[in-house]
Amino acid sequence: MSKQNNPLRDPRNLSAATNLVHGGGRRTPFNETSEALFLSSGYSYPSSEHAERLFRGEVEGGHNYSRFANPTVDMFQDRMALLEGAEAGRAFASGMAAVTNAVMSQVRAGDHIVASQALFGGCRYVVEDYAPRFGVASTLVDGRDPANFAAAMQPNTKVVFIETPTNPTLELVDIRAVADIAHAHGAKLIVDNVFATALYQKPLQLGADIVTYSATKHIDGQGRVLGGVVLGSKAIIEGDVHTFLRQTGATLSAFNAWVLLKGLETLPLRVRQMNDSAARIADTLASHPKISRVIYPHHASHPQYDLAKRQMLAGSTLLAFEVAGGQDAAFTLCDNLAVILISNNLGDAKSIITHPRTTTHQRLTEEVRLETGVTPGLLRLSIGLEDADDLLADLIYGLDQV
Ligand SMILES: *Cc1c(COP(=O)(O)O)cnc(C)c1O
Repeated sequence: MSKQNNPLRDPRNLSAATNLVHGGGRRTPFNETSEALFLSSGYSYPSSEHAERLFRGEVEGGHNYSRFANPTVDMFQDRMALLEGAEAGRAFASGMAAVTNAVMSQVRAGDHIVASQALFGGCRYVVEDYAPRFGVASTLVDGRDPANFAAAMQPNTKVVFIETPTNPTLELVDIRAVADIAHAHGAKLIVDNVFATALYQKPLQLGADIVTYSATKHIDGQGRVLGGVVLGSKAIIEGDVHTFLRQTGATLSAFNAWVLLKGLETLPLRVRQMNDSAARIADTLASHPKISRVIYPHHASHPQYDLAKRQMLAGSTLLAFEVAGGQDAAFTLCDNLAVILISNNLGDAKSIITHPRTTTHQRLTEEVRLETGVTPGLLRLSIGLEDADDLLADLIYGLDQV
């Protein structure tokens, strides 16, 4: 027996929490305990012949330019791939850069995209407005019923894009059912997995081909930097996704990758606590007389509760609710809070409340807003790391003023 033979040297034998602390690590000859931050845009080569081999892609793990290869960014990508159970990943400057790459790297003029209509604003823009400008048509469907995807598929459909749970109304899409429909038509399924987090929903295991994250959310989780990541098979990631990143350059900075690596170390602790608090707050608000509706995937009142229990290992760090009395009542509640911030980020250590109709979903027409459940009284609440009793007391005080 020796340390070399210890089976725990193989990350596949370790749990997510352990891999999020050690996974993907690379050490310099100084044997630092914390991952090094490589603030270098380029790399020099021991010889011209080495440079030639490197540019031919014959040097395993070699680096030639930080637009597409940096050791700190590599560590972040590899740690994310371990967490996701993906063969490979690529990091991006923001979640939107990641989504744009994932979608646009898979299509060309003449292709067609099917997407659920309840999408994060930027994602909806990419699919609905941006892709068609380049000859890629798209169809948006109500994602709650998989039959709507089947009906929208065309012979030239190359990508199905979904987000589940959705922003802000926490509707679900059945990942496995939609993956089967996509594959039956030779299309790839891309899942934006921000809301459930990589810990509590596993799209690749359910049949998805590509998973994207805004790392700005739970992965940083402390409101500091923007970032994104795209994960999937080696063939997809080292092919189309890498080429698109390399040639268009929405690269994650080494500094931000380092911040996100540190964020991953505490991800399980933070997300578990945030989920527990969110479940408890959803429970309490559900019986409050001034709230007409609470939306939380693991609350028995959720219209897709069975799917939520099957597909998500926890109920989400977010909840949504409708204040009886509409927009005025929602504003009164928000404007009387002392701990919870009025803002639009999510997955942060700080609890954040959002009135989607007047902020994140302002750009949409009232008709589209109502179609996706964004009513005047709707608030989205991202639960942070404060004490759950304090958060509840803050919300009850705000509701008392309504
Ligand atoms: C925030 C978010 C994005 C965009 O990420 P950025 O880091 O803000 O660019 C995309 N999808 C979802 C579901 C998000 O919550």
